[in-house]
Amino acid sequence: MQAIHDLVRDVPDFPTPGVLFKDITPLLADAAAFAQCIDALCEPWRGAPVGAVCGIESRGFIFGAAMARALGAGFVALRKKGKLPPPVHGVDYGLEYGRDRLEIGQQTLAPGERVIVVDDVLATGGTLEAGRQLVERLGATVIGAGVVIELDALGGRSRWTGTAPLHALVRY
Ligand code: 5GP
Repeated sequence: MQAIHDLVRDVPDFPTPGVLFKDITPLLADAAAFAQCIDALCEPWRGAPVGAVCGIESRGFIFGAAMARALGAGFVALRKKGKLPPPVHGVDYGLEYGRDRLEIGQQTLAPGERVIVVDDVLATGGTLEAGRQLVERLGATVIGAGVVIELDALGGRSRWTGTAPLHALVRY
């Protein structure tokens, strides 16, 4: 998608020295490009029954909520540690530097519910895989995942386990 290449900004040394950060905020601010992104993220799931889109905090909320509306599905937030009221399930996972924890409300998904997990960027892959594990912890079925940007060099795709397809709109 050319709009993504044109609008996503590379920010060197953010948030820490040595990291080249992909800033998606100009893409969100462009009405046509944002709409095109949501359409493309939804494309693989048109006509398929989708119970919920699970968006990962925080930029996954933006894309995930818009997708849920477009697909006629519910939206479920996968949040960082301590943000959701109990009862929650949590999964700890490794980041490029350090560790983090993702949580989901225990009553947000039904067993067997068909779910898509969504985030803005796939880097080392730990976050998206933690999202997949959380959804399955509730007995729901991950039918696939979507990201706007995949950073090939960080190898995140190899951490995505299972057979559900992982779609990326652009790869760097
Ligand atoms: P991972 O767990 O795959 O290493 O990191 C992915 C998570 O970190 C995503 O939730 C994503 O929002 C964030 N992230 C990592 N690198 C970038 C980046 O360059 N740009 C943006 N916008 N988010 C990033």
